[in-house]
Amino acid sequence: METTIVALATPPGAGGIAVVRLSGAESYRIAAQVFRPINESKKVMEAKGYTALFGHFIAQDKILDEGVALFFRAPRSYTGEDVIELSCHGGMVIAQALIEACIDAGAVPAGPGEYTKRAFLNGRLSLTQAEAVMDLISATGRQGAVLAETALDGALARKIEHYKQLLVELAGHLAAWVDFPEEDVPELQQDNLCQTLDEVLAGMQQLIDRYGAGAVLRQGVDVAIVGSPNVGKSTLLNLLAGFDRAIVTPIAGTTRDVVEQAVMLGGIRMNLFDTAGLRETGDVVEAEGIRRSRRKLEEAGLVLAVFDGSCESKQEDRELAQACAEKPAIALVNKSDLEQKFDDTVLQGCFSKVVKIAAGQGEGMQELEQAVQEVLGVANFDPTAPCLVSQRQLAAAVAARSALKEAKNAQSAGFGLDAVSVCVDDALAALCELVGENPSETVIEEVFSEFCVGK
Ligand code: GDP
Repeated sequence: METTIVALATPPGAGGIAVVRLSGAESYRIAAQVFRPINESKKVMEAKGYTALFGHFIAQDKILDEGVALFFRAPRSYTGEDVIELSCHGGMVIAQALIEACIDAGAVPAGPGEYTKRAFLNGRLSLTQAEAVMDLISATGRQGAVLAETALDGALARKIEHYKQLLVELAGHLAAWVDFPEEDVPELQQDNLCQTLDEVLAGMQQLIDRYGAGAVLRQGVDVAIVGSPNVGKSTLLNLLAGFDRAIVTPIAGTTRDVVEQAVMLGGIRMNLFDTAGLRETGDVVEAEGIRRSRRKLEEAGLVLAVFDGSCESKQEDRELAQACAEKPAIALVNKSDLEQKFDDTVLQGCFSKVVKIAAGQGEGMQELEQAVQEVLGVANFDPTAPCLVSQRQLAAAVAARSALKEAKNAQSAGFGLDAVSVCVDDALAALCELVGENPSETVIEEVFSEFCVGK
């Protein structure tokens, strides 16, 4: 960590201001070369932490722009090092020139997530909190952001610490009993043992159950809109998008490629994919569109299968319903404003929810919203409760759950407390891994490689 890093901390592109951030032991020296305070009695090298100076940014001896430098002295900064934030005017040209001037003065470009990695290595953040920072940046909805904030606040780490304490006490007791039988250590009450294992197991199960819904709130979900031609798929997409995104005509086979549009529904970011109507066709372009529709149906996190309520159900409706049976899928029986001829029984057993709508009239959207929330498990989701925020954490929680189940099996099968003790140790190791205690170099690399540059 001897290097001093520099990167743009704000998103690239046009904007009111752009912030270029320096972090490392040389930050002050480098800033003194690229920033000159307007008030000549002020010196960059002497600027105290948590202060700001107004001045000119200098590149190749010329004034580039005017702006503000914000100073943070180690260890009271995001990274724990000397940090200086240089706020110049927005737009890429000035910020880029300023970054180049910093590099000329000795800074090196920061890698992905390097600021947060330094914060972690300097003990400013735990690994779970660092993962939460990434989540907060990429959160797509307000609930997702609350969720990431909860993790950033350390709620997950505190919860896991509680479970670790319980297991440490148990492991200590078991080890004493197993290793020093002659010392007259009182045998553990079976009830106490069971209670502790059950409590931690239930906690793990709850975290694992909440993971999917949390991921939906944080990252959104891919939603495939599928159905026969002319049932109203594009009308639904346009209604949810709030504008005419897809072409709507009474001519079957109008949508030939997959049309993508992100919308918010019930606090969830949904990446909608309006697909070509599923039907037999001799048209090669339409056939390729239909192949893509089927693939989207397989890949999506949620399927909205649209049926025409004003038509009698056909064999292809039955086939579509069967194709949805294994997926999180909602059946939308559209055109409820017309006389209904559709036989709902073809949908039975294939969908978690069946909702009647009239996309053309915008009717049934509240019911649709509620159905989406229920099927994705976010209906009664408390975003302020602890939640796992990465695949890495999920894998560790699953490992802890398996070890705890084995401990319970070993106990009930009467294998003896030494067998239970080994499983409890394994569960404890998985919990330590979950909160990122003593992580390996590979784990650290993996976590931070997913960050963007500048964070
Ligand atoms: P797609 O081929 O499945 O994408 O279907 P479209 O969205 O292009 O709609 C096909 C036809 O059905 C168009 O003429 C729409 O105006 C009409 N339509 C869509 N939704 C409704 C509805 O709720 N009620 C009625 N009466 N017509 C609808």
